Amino acid sequence: MMNYLKRIERLLGGLAGYEADAILISQPENRRYLSGFDGSAGYLLITGQDRVLATDFRYLEQASRQSPDYRVFPISGSRGEWFPCLLDGHDIVVLAFESRHITFYHYRELSDIIKKAGLGIKLVPVDGIVEEIRAVKEPGEIDLISRAAAVSDGAMGYARGLIDSHITEQDLAWEIERFMREAGSEPVPFGVIAGSGENAALPHARAALRDISTGGPVLLDFGARVGGYSSDLSRTFPAGGEDETFKRVYDAVLGAQLAAIEIVREGMTGEEADNIARTVITEAGYGEAFGHALGHGIGLLPHEAPRLGSGSSETLRDGMVFTIEPGIYLPGWGGVRIEDTVVMDNGRVRVISKAEKIGVGDVKRQ
Ligand code: ZN
Repeated sequence: MMNYLKRIERLLGGLAGYEADAILISQPENRRYLSGFDGSAGYLLITGQDRVLATDFRYLEQASRQSPDYRVFPISGSRGEWFPCLLDGHDIVVLAFESRHITFYHYRELSDIIKKAGLGIKLVPVDGIVEEIRAVKEPGEIDLISRAAAVSDGAMGYARGLIDSHITEQDLAWEIERFMREAGSEPVPFGVIAGSGENAALPHARAALRDISTGGPVLLDFGARVGGYSSDLSRTFPAGGEDETFKRVYDAVLGAQLAAIEIVREGMTGEEADNIARTVITEAGYGEAFGHALGHGIGLLPHEAPRLGSGSSETLRDGMVFTIEPGIYLPGWGGVRIEDTVVMDNGRVRVISKAEKIGVGDVKRQ
């Protein structure tokens, strides 16, 4: 059971820096994180004294079951009608809103409503305040991510057994998704990536009709979802055996990934972590072919804070769960990416995903 009151306390602590007396939460994962409510529509109004969950008729019953720490406020009619009623009686002078999520259109509408109703409330934008709290996971969250990772690990083992059968990328992607759903995954957090041969040169290839056994690298990237939390896993296998390019590229990516797992520490910035893997790949002569960041945080969203990439000054801290996923992509040939979901645990990286990697331990190279 998640402790929502504790999360709210941390949020109010962060809000003090904005001199706001209340915050309106609209971003769906933040709403869920702070209340437990996982319906698709609604707002949280959180003040030092009060917690209100505003949602419409479809979710009233669900809201009162999932969010006993909140008073449920039924939304009906136009925003001009219900929004002033929601704010009324809370003594709000400065109301923070999530500027990454409220559109400019929505912001103008809310300010017009506040002005017309004569509420005298000032709206102030806040950026990433809940996301920052979410980046450091509680043990219960790490447990859910580990359960999701166990499902995607199983699916990777299953998929590996299909690499040399005549199957299209699309059919393989569906086999993987079906396996994960049957193994207990909720709807998968992102479409299964299955790229083979030169299609694997597209880091986010859309599965197509190519027969993967035709040859070349087969790049698989997918995740499962348990209790709302995602895992993220990539492996690359050589269909029909390794050629020289595969060996060279694969070894560079594997070396970079293992170096990052070994060396990344608590207190490093996202950029410093990225540099560890990038140096290995650059020294192997493929620096230009590693065009994306080393990794990203993962939790209620498959991509969230922190970012492990150039320009990221976010500090890696104990409890953060993120991916380590270097890759090399060569147009016309294909690509290799190796990705694990990991957690910063007592200052060092602990790997959560357990799917076998070719070339590691006694796992035979194909
Ligand atoms: Zn990823």
